[in-house]
Amino acid sequence: MAITVHSLPVLRDNYAYVVDTGGSLLIVDPGEAGPVLEWLKRQDKVPAAILITHLHHDHIGGVSALREAYANIPVFSPAPFSGARDAIPVVEGQGIDLAGLAFEVLDLPGHASPHVGYFLREEGILFVGDVLIGGACGRLFGHPPELLYTSLRKVAALPPETLLYFGHEYTEANMRFALTVDPENPALIERIGRVEALRRDGLPTVPTTLAEEMATNPFVRCGELGFRSLPGLRAAASDLEVFTVLRRMKDQF
Ligand SMILES: [Zn+2]
Repeated sequence: MAITVHSLPVLRDNYAYVVDTGGSLLIVDPGEAGPVLEWLKRQDKVPAAILITHLHHDHIGGVSALREAYANIPVFSPAPFSGARDAIPVVEGQGIDLAGLAFEVLDLPGHASPHVGYFLREEGILFVGDVLIGGACGRLFGHPPELLYTSLRKVAALPPETLLYFGHEYTEANMRFALTVDPENPALIERIGRVEALRRDGLPTVPTTLAEEMATNPFVRCGELGFRSLPGLRAAASDLEVFTVLRRMKDQF
């Protein structure tokens, strides 16, 4: 189905998404209600449901107010929370038929647990939450690195043309980090130019394609030989060891 995804900036640097099928609207991760309500009022439209990737406040903070405004519309979430005690639970492999769309639920823990992604296979779109954030990945928040690394591998196995809609506008800063660990990557250098131009014009860097992330995002490129020369790594380091060191370096960047 031909759909439009609207990226609505909320809070300081989050995105809430509105999936527009032409007939129905679905909201993904409304971290704040105000900008979403305003947008809906301007369109004079009523949303049909809310989809939640994970329960961090900057992804669910707008749910209560949206449900007050729109008659308790259904919420799909990997777990219930205070704004949606009656949330419809979603689990790995589950199909959700909503507004004529077939969402596939991917279990993607490691930044938060639980954390899911919503994949529209036919449309080639993944709402990936904070698992992969343009040019990098989400923080571990105490989870073991292998959990997030496994989730990133699962995302990386999707078709390369998949459009990724992630939770934060961090791409420009993430590119600066990527350049320190992968300074000679021509695809990365080219992407940085495009990202800087978009941000100068105040435009979002979402969506990216998985192919672009595979070419430029160090956290899904841990198999590349060059990373083995980073401090603290051996030539024979495993991909997970590379990921762990990269994540630690990024935390301190
Ligand atoms: Zn988060």
